[in-house]
Amino acid sequence: MSESNSPHIPKDGEDSIFDKIVKREIPSTVVYEDDLVMAFRDIAPKAPVHILLIPKNRDGLTRMSVAEEKHKAIFGHMLWASSEIARREGLAEGWRLVINDGPNGGQVVYHLHMHILGGEKLGDFNK
Ligand code: C5P
Repeated sequence: MSESNSPHIPKDGEDSIFDKIVKREIPSTVVYEDDLVMAFRDIAPKAPVHILLIPKNRDGLTRMSVAEEKHKAIFGHMLWASSEIARREGLAEGWRLVINDGPNGGQVVYHLHMHILGGEKLGDFNK
């Protein structure tokens, strides 16, 4: 899912690349934003539509596998937002939602994010 294998792991209190995107310190093409989440186009798209959806407040969510009970609401909101974004992008024929976790999952940016992929028939996802 990424152009580089070197992980970007922010320390506690340090901004991630995606925090800097939220603060508009790094430019991005934003396609959806509300109080809780932001979605922007991936700079290295793997499909005609490739959008990253992130919680604006990382709140410890560097990766999926550290999720706690307090994060349940943001996950629910992100799933709803992914569906809303797919509708806005016109992905009526279908799309895919991906979360990479950790080294084996191919995660590079350690600020939880969902990949929304679509715009063509995607390859089999069985590896
Ligand atoms: O799931 P993973 O951590 O591998 O994905 C990170 C994604 O963030 C990559 O698809 C990469 O292209 C994207 N990225 C981006 N803008 C940046 C840095 C990374 O869209 N400034």
